[in-house]
Order: sequence, then structure tokens, then C-alpha cells
Amino acid sequence: MKPFIPQLVYIEPQALDYPLGRELKEKFEKMGIEIKETTSHNQIRNLPGDTDLQKYRVAKSTLVVGVRRTLKFDTSKPSAEYAIPLATGCMGHCHYCYLQTTLGSKPYIRTYVNLDEIFEQAEKYMDERKPEITRFEAACTSDIVGIDHLTHSLKKAIEFFGRTELGRLRFVTKFHHVDHLLDAKHNGHTRFRFSVNSRYVIKNFEPGTSSFDQRLEAAKKVANAGYPLGFIVAPIYMHDDWQEGYFELFERLAESLEGESIPDLSFELIQHRFTKPAKKVIEKHYPKTKLELDESKRKYKWGKYGIGKYVYPTEEANDLETTISSYIQQFFPHATIAYFT
Ligand code: SF4
Repeated sequence: MKPFIPQLVYIEPQALDYPLGRELKEKFEKMGIEIKETTSHNQIRNLPGDTDLQKYRVAKSTLVVGVRRTLKFDTSKPSAEYAIPLATGCMGHCHYCYLQTTLGSKPYIRTYVNLDEIFEQAEKYMDERKPEITRFEAACTSDIVGIDHLTHSLKKAIEFFGRTELGRLRFVTKFHHVDHLLDAKHNGHTRFRFSVNSRYVIKNFEPGTSSFDQRLEAAKKVANAGYPLGFIVAPIYMHDDWQEGYFELFERLAESLEGESIPDLSFELIQHRFTKPAKKVIEKHYPKTKLELDESKRKYKWGKYGIGKYVYPTEEANDLETTISSYIQQFFPHATIAYFT
């Protein structure tokens, strides 16, 4: 898996008022990438491509360099108090991705250059909660690691939270391009998590992301750089022989991490879910997907903004939770299971 290089770059004029905006413009010019100006990302309509599917593919490799105007952070339960907006969108093609719901018709990637304003806002949230710790999740709307080799905004965020007393950063990734983050002064304040799954899920539903082995190699590097490390098993999916599939996952994970010293390993468990709007988008963008999206086999759970989710029925969800937790206890008896949702 090669590091992401955008096919097309749009720059909002105001982005050039910020050093990172200017730096990125120069970088992409030197790389010979086509750059267009746009007054706002909402103006991006005529992406190349004859069909919606082609346009979707181009959008997924289009980067918009812009300014984050809304500085009110979303909440991000259960993993953190707030979502810190460094970027939105992702170049990966995971069929089940939650961005199918949140980004819908605008799947291009946006990176924000007004980092100091974003960090100032984070300070305000930390002040409000002091003396409590405040956790910020940086991967709610993108896979931030996947683009950070270009922007280094995540690296700046890691160092910013490293300097704070009460702020903590966390994010999850399916990409292995972590080398530039290894020397960041994180001060133990950033939890680096990798998304892992059974072979079946990775093979069938996660095109355009790093392989399991590449993610594990990166996880070891990150642990050696002293970052608190975690794994998110998501989405936990009931495919044929799922018990064997997930058992093998933890077996391989344990083998690969044998001999590594990981003092504070954490696991987060998220069962597969989908919304009705996401189902429509998934079926349009990945028409041949094997992803099971049958509402009648699921339980409806009320969600934010009136968009409910379809999760596994209670009994199946309990089975998933108990089975996966038992594998974790077997292979990683000292790890913490933060939650199952
Ligand atoms: Fe979505 Fe994450 Fe896959 Fe990117 S890597 S497409 S953010 S699930």
C-alpha cells in the first residue's frame, strides 16, 4: 500500500492566509499535481468522470485544502469527550464506512489549515472541564493518519496535546504510514490505535487500506516510540465461521506482538451497524458488496439527528461481545477492554 497522493487538489483562497495552506500549495505544485481554486468546497461539482461511480472514485482521491469555519466540536462518545476536526473524508474504500452516512454526496477529502484556531478551541474545552482530563478523538470524520504524511497536522496536534496538562488525543487508523510520527513529542498523551479485523472482513470490505501485517508492523513501531497503544476491532461482523475468524485474528495479533513491551494495551469493540441512508449509498458505490444489510435481521437503535442504526439483535450482540472478550482475555490477559458498542 503506497502512501496516498491526491489526483486533484482544490485550494480555498482563504487557506493561503495560513502558513500550512501556502506550504501545501507549494508542495503539490512541486509534485506536479493539478491544482484548482474553489471559493468553498460546496462549489466542487464537476469532478471528472462519466458516471456517478467514476466521479465518486475521483472524489475519494481529491484533496481540498480549506479553513475550518465551524469551531464547535462534536461530542465523541464513548471513546472521547470531543471530536477534534483536523480533516474529513478518506481515500480508503471500506464498504461499511461510517462516512457513507456523514459525507454522503461529498466524499472528497478536506484538510484544514487553521490549526492554531482549532487548538485554541480545544484549550477552551479543556479549561471548561478542568481539573478533569479531556479526551479528543481525531479520527471521527477521516482516517487522519492516511493523509498526514502530506500535511503533518496530526503530528502538530500530537505535539500540542503533549504540551498540555489535561488534554489527551486519540485516533484510529487502517494505514501504516506512521514513520514521520515516531519522533513526535507526544509525552504519553496520545493513544495510537489500529483498526483490526478478521481476514474475511479485511479481504472483502476494506479495499484501499494497508494490509493487516502492515498495520501490525506500524503498531510495533508506535509502541517502541512510547505511545500508548490500542486496537479497535470494528466492525465486528457475523460472517460464516466468524468465531474461527476472530480467534485467528487474536492469535496472529498475539504472535506478532510477542516479546514487545506494551504496558497499557487497550481494545475497543464495535459491532457492525448501518443506517438506511448509508445502505443506499453503499449499494450505489459498491454494488457487488457482500456486506449484509438486511434490516429484518437487525435491531433498530435510535440515533443522533433522528437517523437510527441497525445493529445486531441483543442475543447476537451479547454473543459477539462475550466471544470476542474471551479471546482478548485468553491472548492479552493484561489488556483493558474499554467498551463494546
Ligand atoms: Fe472509512 Fe476508515 Fe475505511 Fe477510511 S479507512 S474508508 S475512514 S473505514
